Amino acid sequence: MDRTATNMNLPEEEPGGPAAALDVRTQTKTYKNFFQNINDLSKVISFSPQEKKKLEDAAEVYHLRVPFYYFSLIKNRHDSKDPIRAQCIPSPEELEVSEKEFMDPLAEEQMSPVNCLVHRYPDRVLLIVTSQCFMYCRHCTRKRLWQEDIPEPNLQDIDKAISYIKKNKQIREVIVSGGDPLTLDTSKIDYVLSGISCLKNVEAIRIGTRAPVVFPQRINEALCRVLRKYNKLWINVQFNHPWEVTPQSAQACMRLARCGIPISNQSVLLRGINDNPEVMIELCHKLQSIRVRPYYLFQCDPVVGASHFRTPIRRGMEIIEKMRGFTSGMCVPTFVVDGIEGKGKVPLGPNYLVSEDGGCVTLRNYQGETFRYYAPKE
Ligand SMILES: *Cc1c(COP(=O)(O)O)cnc(C)c1O
Repeated sequence: MDRTATNMNLPEEEPGGPAAALDVRTQTKTYKNFFQNINDLSKVISFSPQEKKKLEDAAEVYHLRVPFYYFSLIKNRHDSKDPIRAQCIPSPEELEVSEKEFMDPLAEEQMSPVNCLVHRYPDRVLLIVTSQCFMYCRHCTRKRLWQEDIPEPNLQDIDKAISYIKKNKQIREVIVSGGDPLTLDTSKIDYVLSGISCLKNVEAIRIGTRAPVVFPQRINEALCRVLRKYNKLWINVQFNHPWEVTPQSAQACMRLARCGIPISNQSVLLRGINDNPEVMIELCHKLQSIRVRPYYLFQCDPVVGASHFRTPIRRGMEIIEKMRGFTSGMCVPTFVVDGIEGKGKVPLGPNYLVSEDGGCVTLRNYQGETFRYYAPKE
């Protein structure tokens, strides 16, 4: 099946290229590179009238934005279980709010000493520079930022957050996230990065972005010219399915790698999308082939309206068990559950320590063989 956007009766890209239509900061602007409402989507996907009403309600609660590029990766757009479609097209299940779900599952608001900064761990902070994204993932953990009453961070907020980081010398890493920080104008990205990188205590800056995956044209020459200037940069992306590794996303990652930036991946474990070892192994192999290092596999957080994406905790552990040893250690992420109420990330994995008896332990290898191993008691 042909999966290019131009063969799907989609509107043409804006003259001047995608970058010209990139200022996604103002909600009122119309974007020719994105679907932003159910009506436009209903021209390319057939919804029943009842379904359409429900999806409109869902898109009312959680914003909708799907880049044409990402839409073009859907293999069967009439199948709501298509692993690409399920990540970007609303589902009526989003309106089901179950118990034990939270607007802010990680209690980020409570751990925010100044606007747009979350300080949970001793040596690193999370800086939320925007609530805008190129695509609103249906499983997003920060859906609360989409609510109209939460103001967009402005440069003053960012300046204040930078002063906080400067004063708190134990902070050695800043995670620039959002929203997607790469939705900011390139000049603003430059401003934020230069503000952080000149702080003596900051040894690393990590940008969290899905741009290479959902809107790879954002990784353009002008952006790379800015990113290349900073030598403390790391980038974390979010590939969740092997179909997302395309010539375009590979090129975006290659461009970042050529700027000297190490790229890691944080997947979210999503029911029916990537919750089996074969899919995860294929994804991680493809990531290794484009020099993206699998870092975390996240349990899907208990955020409101995402119950249909969640899997049993055991599923993640089993996936890791089927990867460890069977494939390169470079391809194996750490499975983590991000604790509610800001308890932080908890790694979970198979247990290879069978028993312990003084200076002798019994260990199990990946094939299930057990053996005794001696090591000093103290
Ligand atoms: C996830 C997270 C971090 C980074 O944790 P790592 O384990 O270093 O990837 C930092 N701060 C907050 C608030 C986080 O949620």
